[in-house]
Formats: sequence, structure tokens, C-alpha cells
Amino acid sequence: MPVKNNQLRHPILTLDLNFMGINRTIAAYLIPHSNGGILIECGPGSTIGALQEGLKQHGFTTDDITDVFLTHIHLDHAGAAGWLARKGAMIHVHPVGAPHLLYPEKLLASAGRIYGELMDTLWGEFLPVPQTQLFTHEDGEDIEVSDLILCAIDTPGHANHHFAYILEDTCFSGDIAGVRLPGLPHLRLPMPPPEFHLEKWRNSLKKLSQVEFDQIATTHFGIYTDAKWHLSRAHRALDEVERWMEQVMPADLPVETLQEEFVRWARYTSQQDGLDDDLINSYETTNPSWMSAHGIYRYWKKVLNRQPEG
Ligand SMILES: [Zn+2]
Repeated sequence: MPVKNNQLRHPILTLDLNFMGINRTIAAYLIPHSNGGILIECGPGSTIGALQEGLKQHGFTTDDITDVFLTHIHLDHAGAAGWLARKGAMIHVHPVGAPHLLYPEKLLASAGRIYGELMDTLWGEFLPVPQTQLFTHEDGEDIEVSDLILCAIDTPGHANHHFAYILEDTCFSGDIAGVRLPGLPHLRLPMPPPEFHLEKWRNSLKKLSQVEFDQIATTHFGIYTDAKWHLSRAHRALDEVERWMEQVMPADLPVETLQEEFVRWARYTSQQDGLDDDLINSYETTNPSWMSAHGIYRYWKKVLNRQPEG
């Protein structure tokens, strides 16, 4: 684990990838070091232009990026990794995700089933990463890049191929600490199929609670200095989802009805936190509730294997 020392803190530059023309939806983080810079997350292929623009604003080009650390391989986090590898970057990823970066066909086929004709518009090109530029790590491993030391923490629950990274006093949480929009005391959990797993998620949050850091950098979206509060709200959000599941799922509703129910409930919980319609829509754009409804449905049926009541 890297030694915490605020005096040695490297600057963390937030790049807004302006996904689908909407700001503050997907972030990549640039951290300069003595021989260039690293990225944590790189966004999808469709936002490479915005990534280049963001780097330029800080005096960087893609050629300066020595390493890219992916929290996981979902397209909104990792889609541009192969392209950055072509520019010379080393790509760091969870061992479970690595085969999909080498051979993306299966990953793209499964995303294609969800997004259909929108695949290209949403995600752009997904190039494979060559084996020689792909690095996997173990849980708790310290990774040195120039004068930076990052620690990878295995954090399943959103996906089995998920790492959080600790750098100095910051936790880069990917999707495991939920989605939160700047300035708001409200967060939501993205629970997509096929790997959403409530118990694994809870354990991952417990694990992160035992690590020392002051701020949390979520990919969707931004850096929050109230890390303890943020994590406790993520815990609470999981508890709420669990209660909702226990109440609604035993009725064995068709997935379409379930989807409507969940969207309605997500809306209600947002209103309880004081969000207006515009803000609720922003959360829905960043983290669609219908997607989470499908993840919950699958978890209940395939993982918990719970039978309908009556
Ligand atoms: Zn994800």
C-alpha cells in the first residue's frame, strides 16, 4: 500500500469526455509524472476526440501517455484502450478482463445484443490491445510508474473484472462506489447484467472502508472529498436495493414490468434526496435504471436462484 503523504500528492486532472455531447457523464483522470502521464480510465472509442482535446488543455498529447489503468472493461471505461495502446501506452487491467481486451469479439457481441444499432454511435471503435502491452495485477499489488505508486484492489459486485486503484490519498472507484453528479448528495448504483452481485458488492465496499484515503474519484463523475460519507451512502444504497428486491421480486413480474417498477422506485428515491426532474434525467442518462433492472432480474433468477412465491 502506498504511503499516504499529502505533501507528495500528484495533481489529478479531470478530463470530461463529453459523452454524447453531455458533460459530466464519463471522466478520465490524467496524472502527470516525471516521464509523461498516466490515465485512469480512457472512455469509449466514441470520445477519443474529447480525450485528445482534454489532454491538450493540460499540455499533453496521447503520445505522452505511458500507462492506462482501467477499473474494468465495460465500453464506457475501456473502449479506447486499444487505440491508446497503438499510440504506445501500456494497459493495466484486472486479470478476468484481460482476455476481452486481447480478443474483444465476445465482449462486443454481448454489448451488441443490448445496444443493437446504437453500438457505433454510443461506443465507437474498440480495438484489441496487443499482449505485449497488456498488464494484469493481483489484489493488493503496488504498481510503480515513474514516481507514482498505485495499488490495485479487487472489487467485484458491479463486474467480476473490477479494480479500484488507490493513489496517495485518492481512491479511483470506477463503478463500485456508485454514480454521483457534482455538487449533489445523491448517488445511485449501476447494476448491469450479467455480473451484478449484491453480496460481492457489499464485501467490496467493506474492503474499501478499511483502506485509508480522503477523496474518492468516480468515473461517473468527479472527485469527492467526503469519501467516508460517500462510501456509507453506497452501503445504504445497496441495503435499499436489497429491501426493494425482497419486496418486489417474489411476485415474479415479467422483466418489462419490473423495469417500470424499478425506474419508478429509482425516481422516488432521487426525489427523497431533493432532486428535481432535470437532475433525475441526468442520473438516468449517466446510469439508466432500466439497465439495472435487468441486472437485478438476472441476479435474482440466476445467482440467488429464488423461486416465485405462491
Ligand atoms: Zn461498468
